Formats: sequence, structure tokens, C-alpha cells
Amino acid sequence: MQSLTTTAHYQQLLGLPSTWMVENVDLSMTAMQVVIRLVYTGKNAICTECGETCSIYDQAPEQKWRHLDTMQFETIIIARLPRANCKEHGVKTVGAPWADRHSRFTLMFEGFVVQLLQHCSNTQAVSTLLGLSWHCVDDIMRRAVKRGMARRGDDSIEHLGIDEKSFRAGHQYVTIMNDLDGGRVLDVVETRTTKATVKLLTSLAAKQRKKVLSVSVDMWNPFAHAVRKKVPQADLVHDRYHISKYLNDAVDAVRRQESRALNTTGDKTLIGSKYAWLRNPENMSDKQRADFDQLMTCELQTGIAWSLKNMFRAFWVLTTRDAAEYFFQYWSDAVDRSKLKPIIKVKDMMVRHLEGILNFFRHRTTNAVSEGLNSKIQLIKASARGFHSFESYRTRILFYCGKLDMAI
Ligand SMILES: [Zn+2]
Repeated sequence: MQSLTTTAHYQQLLGLPSTWMVENVDLSMTAMQVVIRLVYTGKNAICTECGETCSIYDQAPEQKWRHLDTMQFETIIIARLPRANCKEHGVKTVGAPWADRHSRFTLMFEGFVVQLLQHCSNTQAVSTLLGLSWHCVDDIMRRAVKRGMARRGDDSIEHLGIDEKSFRAGHQYVTIMNDLDGGRVLDVVETRTTKATVKLLTSLAAKQRKKVLSVSVDMWNPFAHAVRKKVPQADLVHDRYHISKYLNDAVDAVRRQESRALNTTGDKTLIGSKYAWLRNPENMSDKQRADFDQLMTCELQTGIAWSLKNMFRAFWVLTTRDAAEYFFQYWSDAVDRSKLKPIIKVKDMMVRHLEGILNFFRHRTTNAVSEGLNSKIQLIKASARGFHSFESYRTRILFYCGKLDMAI
């Protein structure tokens, strides 16, 4: 037998509008479940297309929603949604006030999951804890991101960063746009073509695009083309974050070549030294430093390449554009004298993009934001064992790096 107070309690707890009533509450000790049955008591229904008040056509088949647990009991809401009989749009199922359309969870439950996910970036742990499938969690995150994106204002963003990131094995990429002052990801698109980047930039309102002062990008031409097209007034900047990767790769290419050559004579000096050449001296432990100094005495080509890379670090701390231009010339000459092809190749590319590199001295955008977001995205990629789709990857990046207001 249903006691009146139980239904009244649930009526209050659910905060239902007057058109919905708790019919009964069933507690199953064996299934560890509380099932709340709701009925629609309204006389009319609102058409979802036009908002007109219409007569009720009938009730849609029964649907279930998972709600917040009652004590430790999983709590389910069951109801039949009324269908409005609109003169213009025909028969339309009315939305439930407690849930998003197409969601099998109540808004309060989704809000709780979002909070949990925000505190624990391990989505697998959250799914297990709540007994939800990967897809359910994914859906909840997608709706939360959609909410957050819709709430974003069109305040001005002066310094943008555009980066590529590999997605899945092979050569699939996504392009990510960051707000460098706000330290957040603005949006993510598939591929790294001019078309994709144009799409990314047009996700900003026209009035926002006009306020952009600089865009930090890689020396990848499609990015530059898109920036010229959509934010023509902004300076293209190739900052330290985007240059160091090329220099590191060039040092590594020299190391690989040299290691192969040494190996043929049985010389193992360079074997296993890859990471030693990537570290900056100030980040080395005493042992690492001693080993590195030892390597440097071997008069290797890799050592010369490393010195050229390391020498270029001084470029970024110069105070004026003129000094930077002078330094660049000096450094280029040193690179040429080294005759090391991989470094010369990078230097030649830098010469072609020198204007953008020197633009750094006008804006001095910091590396920290790009690096911070990049390592966060790296963690997201690592914690999700292979993304089912681009959409899930985008959702997670925006969920954790978008600084979105995703509350219910
Ligand atoms: Zn209608």
C-alpha cells in the first residue's frame, strides 16, 4: 500500500511543476531500486515546434529516466509523455521538464555526473562508480559541452593560438583554437586544412574576429592562409612553442643519422641518448648532467646540432625586434657552417617565415598556455583508450579545457 506522505515527499523532492503528479513510489529491496511513477495531469499540451497550447492527442509509450539515488538505491522515474495535437505541426511529443530531450537521465542526475567528472578526469572510474556505460557518460558530457558552448559570450579575444594534434594512429589530425589570454580551448575541428581552419575561425562571431590582434601558429601554410582570410588584421606569430618542436626534431634527425653511421663501426655512444638531447640543461639531474657533459666531449655532430638548438633559446629573451633580427642572421650563419642538413632545412623554413617569427616581439605571447593545454590534451588522449569518434575527442577536450559553464 502506498502511503500518501511518500508520494508527497517525492513530489516535493523532485520539484515538479503542477502539471505532473507522483502516482506512486515502489521500493524493491531485492533490485535495490526505487521506482517513481509520474502522471501528467495538465489539460493541454504545448507544441514543441511553435509553442502553441494544443489539445492532448494521447500519451506516448512509457519511458524511463535514471535519477539521483535515494539513499543507496538506484532511482528510476517512469512516465508517459503527453503528445500535443498541433493544427500546424501534427502530433508532437512534449518534453519532460526533468530531462533533456533524448536523454535517459534526469537533469539533476546529469548535473551530478558532470560534477564528478570535473573532479575526477578518469571517466572510466566515474562510469564504473555509477554503473554507466562509456556511451552514457559520453552522451552526458556531450550535452554538458553543448550547454556550456551555448552560454559563451562574444567578449573580445586578442591573442589566439592555433595548433594541430594527431588523432588516432596514422596521419589524422585535428586543429585546436586556443584563447591564449583566457587559457582555454575555444573549439576543435577535424583535419588541418585551410578549409577546416577557416571553419574554426568562423566559430567566433564577426565582431570578435575584428578584435583579434595576433594568432600564434605553426609554420604550416594552411593555417596562415586561413588567418589571412578570416582575421586579416591580425599578426601571424610563430612563437617559441611552435619553433622548438622543429628544432628538437632536427636534433633528433641528426642523432639518428649519426647513430646509424657509428653503429656500422660498432660504436654505441649514441644508443639510448634520444631524451638526453631533448632536455634543457637546467632541467637535468646531476647524474644526467654528468652523462650529458661526457657525451658532449665526444665531438659528435649531434652535439653541434644540440648547441645550435640551445643557442636559439637566447633569441626569445631579446628585448627588441632589431636585436632579434641581428641575432637571427648570426645564428643562421652558424647553422650554415655546421653543414647539418636537418637543421639547415628548419633554418630555411624559418627564413621563409621570418616575419612571423619576429612578430613575436610585438605580442610576446607566452608559451605556458599552449604547453599547459597541450599536456592536458595529451592526458585526455592517453586516458581514453582510443576514441570512438572525433566527436568524443572534441567533447573531452572542451569538457576539460574549455573553461565552460556546464551547470544544469
Ligand atoms: Zn505547432
